[in-house]
Amino acid sequence: MDISRTGPYELRVEQQGAMRVPGVVYATRELLSDAGQSLEQVRNVATLPGIVLASYAMPDIHWGYGFPIGGVAATDPAQGGVVSPGGVGFDISCGVRLLAADLSAEELAPALGRLMDALDPVVPRGMTRGAVWDLHEPGELRRILVAGSRHAVERGHGDQRDLDRCEDGGAVDGADPGQVSERALERGLHQVGSLGSGNHFLEVQRVDAVYDTEVAEAFGLRPGQVCVMIHCGSRGLGHQICTDHVRRMEQRMPHHGITVPDRQLACAPVDSPEGRAYLGAMAAAANYGRANRQLLADAARRVFAQLLGAGLELVYDISHNLAKLERHEVDGATRLLCVHRKGATRALPPGHPDLPADLRGHGQPVLIPGTMGTASYVLTGIPGGRAFHSTCHGAGRTQSRHQAARGVSGRELRDRLEAEGIAVRPSSWRGLAEEHPGAYKDVDAVVEAGEGAGLCRRVVRLTPLGVVKG
Ligand code: 5GP
Ligand code: MN
Ligand code: MN
Repeated sequence: MDISRTGPYELRVEQQGAMRVPGVVYATRELLSDAGQSLEQVRNVATLPGIVLASYAMPDIHWGYGFPIGGVAATDPAQGGVVSPGGVGFDISCGVRLLAADLSAEELAPALGRLMDALDPVVPRGMTRGAVWDLHEPGELRRILVAGSRHAVERGHGDQRDLDRCEDGGAVDGADPGQVSERALERGLHQVGSLGSGNHFLEVQRVDAVYDTEVAEAFGLRPGQVCVMIHCGSRGLGHQICTDHVRRMEQRMPHHGITVPDRQLACAPVDSPEGRAYLGAMAAAANYGRANRQLLADAARRVFAQLLGAGLELVYDISHNLAKLERHEVDGATRLLCVHRKGATRALPPGHPDLPADLRGHGQPVLIPGTMGTASYVLTGIPGGRAFHSTCHGAGRTQSRHQAARGVSGRELRDRLEAEGIAVRPSSWRGLAEEHPGAYKDVDAVVEAGEGAGLCRRVVRLTPLGVVKG
């Protein structure tokens, strides 16, 4: 592999063999220490038909299914550009929602244990157990697939501001429930309003540092404030959709004359029956993910209101596993591109027309979970932001779940975190151990690299007070 360092936070992987564009990786040497395999994936993505400019990777890059996690790739449908389910991931529209409480950490302190005890039973989680809504009626599920969190709000679980502050106003256009298999619908019925497994969580946090007071205020954040961060996705429904459409595309690739260096990069032209079918199903899963986060936010709100008399205002809700049709300027011309972000977050700059009116002057809130023992961040998009206005999505794993669980027992980890003043409400000991902070990169270094590379800017740092773990 021909790799050269083009800046303190940037590597270039030269175009070779079947690559149609170079690879560009925004990371320091330390952040890449384990990334041999994922750099190979950056190269593989660069071979996709219709890819534009480069195969990008964010500072939290690590190995994923087909695409690296932290990968960004845009294709041009007008030039045979493809869509690849592996460029979105199995947890379609997995994402983060941040809510700000009208309460300071000092005010919360005496009630933290009680708050966590009250959140524990109302946040369904684990692989299968329960959901806020256990649907028995496929009609209502179809409504969720089309209307996303708008449907939850119509049913009284939220307000207009929740929709204004959610990416795409709470629902992605173009959802096609007809492209969602019976098996996927079945899996989706009983999981609306549930976290899922260990990397997903509901965390109570404190605003620990403010880097830009004006933007923080516009986002609704101030020093010492209590926040709630929710990380979850589209559960079994999204997973099944990915599985179904990868299989279908694999079979149809010869028909389209497409060859890929890794079967996990199965893809189809955006403008083909298979491409359109996937995008319709993917949008349905994205809407499911948003309704999921809306219902969990509503559950947290009820607890905050009852126990503390405090409100929770939505700061923003953004997916980090999604493909979107977006307009971007490339070499002086505006083109409609299919932008895959897989473990990467859209970061719109100030002035962008897709931002809610009250944020337009400031840029999009970018929500970056770190770990339950370190920190998380709110960033914002910047003018000229690179990689089609994208940045990282988290700290990024350095150890597999298996490796992580070997290093520490769940009980030991809970005790350690509690001793640091972080209240832990796990769903399983094993799941907790798999997520220990040492299994992730240093989130401070990741966001520093993102800022240094010209992807985003830091606004606020959050530290954990308590975590309800999936
Ligand atoms: P992923 O979507 O790739 O599963 O996870 C996104 C990011 O969430 C991870 O890279 C990691 O940095 C972060 N994360 C995982 N568990 C926790 C947690 O319990 N609390 C916080 N704040 N972040 C977490
Ligand atoms: Mn997920
Ligand atoms: Mn995620």
